[in-house]
Amino acid sequence: MPKVIFLTDARDASARPAGGAAAERPDAVLPAPGQPLRDTRARPLRDLRISVTDRCNFRCTYCMPRDVFDKNYTFLPHGHLLSFEEITRTAAVFARLGVEKIRLTGGEPLLRRHIETLIAMLAELRTPAGKPLDLTLTTNGSLLARKATALKAAGLTRVTVSMDALDPDVFARMSDTGFTPDDVLRGIDAAAAAGLAPVKVNMVVRRGLNDQEIVPMARRFRGTGHILRFIEYMDVGSTNGWNMTEVLPSADVLARIGTHYPLHALDADPMGRVAERWAYNDGAGEIGVISSVTQAFCGGCTRARLSPEGRLFLCLFGTQGHDLRALIRGSADDDALTRAIGRIWSARGDSYSEHRALGAAKPAPQGDGAARVEMSYIGG
Ligand code: SAM
Ligand code: SF4
Ligand code: SF4
Repeated sequence: MPKVIFLTDARDASARPAGGAAAERPDAVLPAPGQPLRDTRARPLRDLRISVTDRCNFRCTYCMPRDVFDKNYTFLPHGHLLSFEEITRTAAVFARLGVEKIRLTGGEPLLRRHIETLIAMLAELRTPAGKPLDLTLTTNGSLLARKATALKAAGLTRVTVSMDALDPDVFARMSDTGFTPDDVLRGIDAAAAAGLAPVKVNMVVRRGLNDQEIVPMARRFRGTGHILRFIEYMDVGSTNGWNMTEVLPSADVLARIGTHYPLHALDADPMGRVAERWAYNDGAGEIGVISSVTQAFCGGCTRARLSPEGRLFLCLFGTQGHDLRALIRGSADDDALTRAIGRIWSARGDSYSEHRALGAAKPAPQGDGAARVEMSYIGG
């Protein structure tokens, strides 16, 4: 079993300079008003993923294997989490720097108590041009049937639901939970009925575990208006025992579906869109493939990620992150926070998946040899 080194050196905010090394650089420059903030590869900062908890009521084998995330596992204490006020203040600064889209994630974000209050607070934010932000959430769907109406009323725009199989046994093998596919399907229906449409359904594909569910899933969601997206199994974190042999390339997924239901490609926006979009020739809707492993899309990666305790990660494969909480809870005003985040993004060069594709994968540049951050901590 892999050893878990879970940000042990990174949890004590007081132990290191606030904002991390990049925040200290005096030479980094913020863009002129109205100009997007760009990193070293000219990628604008457009999307912010906010992980609101590291806890989950599933134990997906590819994300939170039960032998690691067991009853002895130490989750973040509540006092370490950013409060709703702290999250909203930080999100407002990101909006000032060009972020147009926020996704709440986790762990399971619907486990964070009164999440709809946070959504209502975030829904008040505006871009510098005065537009509301696109406000979405990724969930395992287990609590969605109960919460969909309240989430919509609070101002959530759309929702993405993770679902890896329709067959109850395969579902249980993937998600290691007492919840059933029917529970998730009820959540998806409730979300659509509440107006959180189009609902995106994310299926992680592991060759030999749930790839027999690809065509049944496609059949189930064709013609519903929901957008099914197939995600290549990624080597995120250090606990899931990832192996390349379990990655089924998206090209194979498309070939299998295309045999039953012919498809054609739709145009993609190269910047900020990770899914390649395809449509059924018979008009039964759209699917997506996310080829994180076989076709790296780092060149269009416009995402920043905020951890539950306020660490800023510039890449899913980061190790340590930049401690914004120390700034937020310290004396930094919004201008200082804006400058710190601006400097961090300006210095960003992360391109982990491209390195992996070249066979030279290495931790993101901000790393210091520590273990990669877990998906359940930083969100997908
Ligand atoms: N608990 C919520 C959920 O499952 O939707 C939100 C957090 S979860 C970490 C976000 C997404 O990451 C899910 O769609 C999940 O399937 C995906 N994910 C987790 N581990 C993954 C891995 N190793 N490879 C690819 N996707 C992964
Ligand atoms: Fe929980 Fe989502 Fe990870 Fe599954 S993928 S264990 S539902 S955080
Ligand atoms: Fe973005 Fe990092 Fe993924 Fe590349 S590997 S697409 S930089 S999150």
